[in-house]
Amino acid sequence: MAAEFDLFVIGAGSGGVRAARVAASHGARVAIAEESRFGGTCVIRGCVPKKLFVLASRFADAFERAPGYGWTIDHPSFDWPRLREAKDQEISRLEGIYRRNLESSGVKTLASRAVIEDAHAVRLLADDSLISARHILIATGGRAARTAIPGAELALISDDLFELSKLPQTLLIEGGGFIAVEFACLLARLGVGVTLVYRGERILRGFDDDCRAHLQAAMQDHGIRIITGCTLQSIKAQGAGREVRLSDGRVLEADAVLMATGRVPNTQGLGLERVGVSTDARGAVKVDADSRSSQASIWAVGDVTDRLALTPVAIREGHAFADTVFGSKPWRVDHRDVPVAVFATPELASVGLTETQAREQVGDIKIFRTSFRPMSSVLSTRLERTLMKLVVDARSDRVLGVHVCGEDAAEIVQMAAIAVKMGATKAQFDATVALHPSAAEELVTLRTPVA
Ligand code: FAD
Repeated sequence: MAAEFDLFVIGAGSGGVRAARVAASHGARVAIAEESRFGGTCVIRGCVPKKLFVLASRFADAFERAPGYGWTIDHPSFDWPRLREAKDQEISRLEGIYRRNLESSGVKTLASRAVIEDAHAVRLLADDSLISARHILIATGGRAARTAIPGAELALISDDLFELSKLPQTLLIEGGGFIAVEFACLLARLGVGVTLVYRGERILRGFDDDCRAHLQAAMQDHGIRIITGCTLQSIKAQGAGREVRLSDGRVLEADAVLMATGRVPNTQGLGLERVGVSTDARGAVKVDADSRSSQASIWAVGDVTDRLALTPVAIREGHAFADTVFGSKPWRVDHRDVPVAVFATPELASVGLTETQAREQVGDIKIFRTSFRPMSSVLSTRLERTLMKLVVDARSDRVLGVHVCGEDAAEIVQMAAIAVKMGATKAQFDATVALHPSAAEELVTLRTPVA
């Protein structure tokens, strides 16, 4: 019997939506099931609402700097419910666009949880119907994982922060990854007293060490309390608040606790064992370079594969899959030199190798580094500095990494990423005329290596 669809996509997030639309544009009959809201993590409870909150929080810095630039700002005040409502409206608008774009591409949208029944069939739990498809794409993303400690259920996860009716006065965050750090910075600017507890010695493992140290110090200067080398042992309700015991024996109190200790792939209960789809120890679907799983008709893209958990990567993986399988245009995603940002304040962004990675992988390298006060602060009392760093292969002169911690870091690094991806040399950076006065010009005027 012929299959009803050429492609059945499970999960309408970044990767699934792109794959569905591109496959449909190649003439495939496509259906997509979503158990929550169309748009997925990025649009509903990730990148987009998070960035709106970050932007809201940075008005606090602008108000602080403004008097130095001649402004008088009397008693600025902040209204959380108003921000949340405005965010909700924008997210609903985007969700509608995602859904309409799918439907106008000819993709059948189904509001239901879907599980895999066999290599060519999916069951919709909303009405218990069975749908057949030649190919199945798992694009179910990931979810926040709570650490297994007594009282873990009393902690919030990042999803909850987007829905809070009221901001806590004090918040204890466990974690040192980008989500923990971003929420720490933004909530501190919205008036929350933030304590960050992290098991490592320095936040943001995997990023360049100089940038990590720079950001950690800037956060502390802003009044965020950072406790490193510690984990949470237990959480107890204490009136309306929480009492937290740390691994070093300390007991802390806060109105609320946020666990931002990591995310796990969404594969539980999907029926993967039934159809012979292999997963790794974290539950991620194992795929080859074309995103094909161990079962020939089943594919997976995005966070559920635990490669690089970023929206643009999920989108590319979905696009490459659809072009390869339905468009006779095979191509593969290159996961090297992907630019990444932490929307902390100050912002941190990177592309390519860190100094530590370059020393391990290349050996003979040169480091160019500068630190300066951005012009947006020089007329104010703020002492913050921007850090920029280039990692260069000493033999080939190729720029292996660009790291920025400061205002507009993400915007700067997105552009620098083009040069890094093209294999630009330090000499070519030097041959580029500076755009003055800008912060980014520092990247083309660094002349003396510091190491
Ligand atoms: P998702 O977008 O998670 O989509 C998966 C979808 O599948 C979900 O809608 C889910 O409801 C649905 N689903 C799951 N199981 C089923 C099922 N059985 N049946 C039907 N539907 C199902 N990335 C960036 O690049 N930049 C950022 O600034 C950034 N900020 C982030 C901030 C936060 C707080 C978080 C949590 C993430 C952030 N990310 C960011 C990561 C980014 O959101 C993800 O990498 C991206 O959304 C992954 O896309 P995906 O398609 O793999 O999965």
